[in-house]
Amino acid sequence: MSSTVTILGATGSIGTSAIRVLQAERESFQVYGLTCRENLDILASQLEAVSPAAVAVESAAARSTARYRELKEKYTNIEFIEGSECVIELASREVDISISAIVGAAGLAPSMAALKAASRVALANKETLVMAGDLFMKGATDLGTELIPVDSEHSAIFSLLEHVDMSTVHKIIITASGGSLRDLPIDKLPYVTPDEALAHPTWSMGRKITIDSATLINKGLEVIEAHYLFSADYETIDVVVHPESIIHAMIETLDGAIYSHMGIADMAFPIQAALTWPEKKKSPFGRLDLVRAGSLSFQEVDHNRYPGLKLCYEAGRLGGTAPVVLNGANEIAVAAFLDKKISFTDIVPVVDKVLEGHNITGDPDLGTIFSADEEARSSAREIIRGIA
Ligand code: NAD
Ligand code: MG
Repeated sequence: MSSTVTILGATGSIGTSAIRVLQAERESFQVYGLTCRENLDILASQLEAVSPAAVAVESAAARSTARYRELKEKYTNIEFIEGSECVIELASREVDISISAIVGAAGLAPSMAALKAASRVALANKETLVMAGDLFMKGATDLGTELIPVDSEHSAIFSLLEHVDMSTVHKIIITASGGSLRDLPIDKLPYVTPDEALAHPTWSMGRKITIDSATLINKGLEVIEAHYLFSADYETIDVVVHPESIIHAMIETLDGAIYSHMGIADMAFPIQAALTWPEKKKSPFGRLDLVRAGSLSFQEVDHNRYPGLKLCYEAGRLGGTAPVVLNGANEIAVAAFLDKKISFTDIVPVVDKVLEGHNITGDPDLGTIFSADEEARSSAREIIRGIA
């Protein structure tokens, strides 16, 4: 029998890769639900390709367009869930697997709903763990929901830990490509345009995560994500720059051996791994040719170039609402950079300043998390108004 799947954030970079995987694995999976914010053109092609049972379009403006009405009239066999809570409502419908692929803090509430409704959550939305790591991990345990990471580094670690016992781990090493601006002289960074920062050398991803890759905040968020997923101390988690993006993560054991997980930089691989786990299915998405790949190189992180990484470790170690605030402030700063309101090198100082002004609450409940997120956003906006 095939497994039912919902994709939260179906029209994004992860969502569209997930559709590719599901189409390649038609006999094993049946799409139950798709959600998106507003991209009705991509949604329309997905309705045609995978005919889900239900969809939810988050934006009321998008739901009031002629295009939306057209889709509703065309696909009378599909349920169009509406209203301000439509994404949560769809995320709360029982399925075998829910792929959590909304970007940013907007993914937290749907991820929480998916944890209750699905037998397995394939988690791409790292912000869920950054904001509510303790609550989410506890929820997964209490509810007996399988939690399988989709983020490529965490998918790699998850897979390596099937062969290596966590008690023998000395270091978890997460690789970073270094992002789009890795080779630009540091003194040129203040003048970088959004388009330059969006041109990632090895991965094709959504806009927010591409900018986070250029600041290395993405790697910092991934360190926090790894801390929660694998119950690993921050001292155990290292980051190394690996420009080729072939090794996604490594595990160094106590005896000094290093195990690496290599593969093509295409999210179809970790998505397929999360959907088919614990089985390993033959991939139709190409194979890594090591000879063609040539050499693999590694560099230490230059903290002058990437001041955001240390900030993420700091927020992670502080715990409580600190990572929530780091994340919320970063989302606002990245959006301001993309809107050309601040420069690339303003992003991390804005986040730093917001974090500095925040009074941390330990062991926050969801309500406290959402208000810390709101507070961080308004404080970031205020700081940005002072710059712009
Ligand atoms: P994206 O911007 O390409 O897509 C985001 C999706 O979320 C879209 O479907 C959009 O419609 C939906 N969305 C956005 N705001 C929403 C809102 N307020 N309410 C409901 N839906 C909303 O993002 P992406 O690059 O696919 O990333 C998604 C998540 O996966 C992020 O958390 C990212 O960190 C993580 N991730 C992405 C990649 C990648 O290769 N893109 C890799 C690893 C992890
Ligand atoms: Mg990643």
